[in-house]
Amino acid sequence: MPVKDIPKFEKQNPSVSVNVLCSGNEGGFVPLYVSKERDRLHHVNLFLIEGPDETRHYVWIKNMSRLVAGRTKHDGQTFVCNHCLHPFYTKDIHDRHVFNCQRHPAQDVKYPDPKKPKESVLVFRKHAAQFRLPFYLVCDFESFLSFLTHIDPNEDVDAMKATNLIDEHNTCGFACHRVSEYSQYQTDPFVYSGPGVMDKFYEHIMQESRTISDKLVDDQDMDPLTDTQQTDYDDTTTCGACGGDFTKSNHKVRHHDHVSGQFLFAACNNCNLTLKMPNRKRKVTEGQRPNKKPKIDKDYTKELFSSGRFSQPKIL
Ligand SMILES: [Zn+2]
Ligand SMILES: [Zn+2]
Repeated sequence: MPVKDIPKFEKQNPSVSVNVLCSGNEGGFVPLYVSKERDRLHHVNLFLIEGPDETRHYVWIKNMSRLVAGRTKHDGQTFVCNHCLHPFYTKDIHDRHVFNCQRHPAQDVKYPDPKKPKESVLVFRKHAAQFRLPFYLVCDFESFLSFLTHIDPNEDVDAMKATNLIDEHNTCGFACHRVSEYSQYQTDPFVYSGPGVMDKFYEHIMQESRTISDKLVDDQDMDPLTDTQQTDYDDTTTCGACGGDFTKSNHKVRHHDHVSGQFLFAACNNCNLTLKMPNRKRKVTEGQRPNKKPKIDKDYTKELFSSGRFSQPKIL
């Protein structure tokens, strides 16, 4: 029987679902046909052996766990996903995986060859992304939950249908923490609780943006190198960012911290240029604020505070 006829066979035998595996190009096994039928009383995994003159022979795979045992160091029984043939240690993890795996077509999972480091090691293409940002903001919102009483008619209808709406989050406060490796610019978290949270948040973020931009724009010249730093720099033969060799067209330069003025490492010229923080002021201004204003149920907030369950908002 050719593989294309298996759905017909499944139709004629409503209590059976069938999967077919074959051998992959690089050895091992790959799913050739994965049944669309779920939860049938019997499930059969077959292995297809094809002869040179289109002769076919199906072999019953009695134990999937044994078949793919070479894919894991685990020496006990495993639970194998029929879609990707990945073995799992517990049924629970397997079941959770299958739920997501079934959404995609059957696949042959290939692992990179550990003997080829270029294939098996993930590296950043944008080398600047390997380094810490000089400043970032960590923000957290607090909100009251209320039962949803109305649905915005402007919402995406399909998205609304696919979503089980339970309650509405009404923001009542936020905290914003500026994090910086420069202790002189590190501030305590800013906490706000009270009316007009989103307006206050926007105002605060814009203020932070201006303050941080001012620090970054104030480009510091590099401090003179110490003897050790100079020796390190002279001895370095590869770029500290991309790991490439220095060449005539892409020569060695000193990469320094433009906020503190400290020498960091020897880098190639190309990397040094990409590692520089953008030396310009942010162009976002108050007038460019997105038009969509967050909705705040003022009556509900008022009711909450008057109920006595929550204390009156205060600006810290
Ligand atoms: Zn899978
Ligand atoms: Zn480089």
